[in-house]
Amino acid sequence: MNKKLYVISGPSGVGKGTVIKKFLDRNPDFMLSVSCTTRLPREGEIDGVNYFFLSKEEFQKCIDEGKFLEWAEFAGNRYGTKKKYINKCLEEGRNIILEIDTKGAIQVKKQMEDAVLIFIAPPSLDALENRLRGRHTEDENAIQKRLKEVKEELERAKNFDYTVINDDLEKAVGELEKIISGERLC
Ligand code: ADP
Ligand code: 5GP
Repeated sequence: MNKKLYVISGPSGVGKGTVIKKFLDRNPDFMLSVSCTTRLPREGEIDGVNYFFLSKEEFQKCIDEGKFLEWAEFAGNRYGTKKKYINKCLEEGRNIILEIDTKGAIQVKKQMEDAVLIFIAPPSLDALENRLRGRHTEDENAIQKRLKEVKEELERAKNFDYTVINDDLEKAVGELEKIISGERLC
């Protein structure tokens, strides 16, 4: 079977993390790439597991040294995927999922034509805002910054290979599984 890079994007709060977690529980042969970020850890997040939490200076050093496959600024923080990490996983023949923003996804596609871009969309903008607020992980300022990104994220979704609407969670995970198993046969 083909080993590919699957890139999953979508507005903050749409349920990317929730959908991916369910997918990974059911598909243990896939692994999720761990990104670097300058944002502070949320309660319960562990360095090296959820993210590699870097200072602004450390992140800038990685940019200067060309260590990122892609990186982007999102809602006031920087996020990036290390080249070395992805190359190692691909060499080991592992199926990788990247959960990154749409700007990063487009950078990946430019460098790796085979990468499959999947956009997770909300059933409505109201539902998105309710989910983002209901998660209780960001303060009002951070919520506003994240909501401001939504329009552009939806616009960039036009460049994606697939869109999955995360209305019913189970249905969304099923659709993701269908897309990925179809791609694995290509
Ligand atoms: P993201 O990773 O896209 O920022 P999360 O996975 O953290 O989003 O989900 C944001 C919130 O929405 C969480 O509280 C999660 O439980 C909830 N959620 C996710 N999927 C659904 C769904 N299909 N229906 C209702 N709530 C959902
Ligand atoms: P959060 O702060 O909610 O964990 O993530 C905010 C946004 O950053 C999400 O859209 C998430 O997909 C994106 N993100 C996470 N890691 C990366 C990365 O390595 N690169 C890019 N470009 N975006 C990322």
